[in-house]
Amino acid sequence: MRLRITEVFDSVQGESTFAGRRSAFVRLTGCDLRCTWCDSTYTFQGGDWRTLESLWDEVEGYGGDLVCVTGGEPLLQAAVHDLMAGFLDRGLTVTLETGGHRDLTPVDPRVHKIVDLKPPGSGEADKVRWANVELLTPRDEVKCVLVDRDDYEWARDRVRAHRLAERVHAVLFSPVHGRLAPDELAAWMIADRVPARLQLQLHKYVWGADARGV
Ligand code: SF4
Repeated sequence: MRLRITEVFDSVQGESTFAGRRSAFVRLTGCDLRCTWCDSTYTFQGGDWRTLESLWDEVEGYGGDLVCVTGGEPLLQAAVHDLMAGFLDRGLTVTLETGGHRDLTPVDPRVHKIVDLKPPGSGEADKVRWANVELLTPRDEVKCVLVDRDDYEWARDRVRAHRLAERVHAVLFSPVHGRLAPDELAAWMIADRVPARLQLQLHKYVWGADARGV
């Protein structure tokens, strides 16, 4: 069983409530969305075919206890479920970063799902799979990446309408780096008392906006 992989590396998690923790990353190749602000376009093509055993061995070799399965869109490759089960069976904590447009039903309940809700500024808001909301658990997190006030209001209203803060461990509002000022977003969130956390992409402050594989 194999997966097409763009990169595997050991780093520090830059997003979610796991931010700041050392984490391995397995970045799968390919995505069926084209978000306007995507910072991972290099995952759309290329990559190398890797066996699951080689991925389990490489990540175990880092010696950590956390692994992030990401992309691209990791749920496009069916064997990702076997990959995550293997990590879990080896005692690792697994986070899965997904665009929120693919069915979450097959995801192992032990996985911490970090699920995007794509606002209009992404250009992909019509792809949101709202049926996934029912599959979210207190283990999971929802992330809204925002480019402007319209995106913010869209996210604020849907967080309230779907009572997301009551369903998941955290709702994360993240400004697009260089497009929306964090202090502006923070002021909106405070004024509206939105049940969400402000999230900055830590890795971009540590390694720079265009860094990859770190
Ligand atoms: S889902 Fe992720 S990888 Fe795909 S286009 Fe959007 S930001 Fe890029």
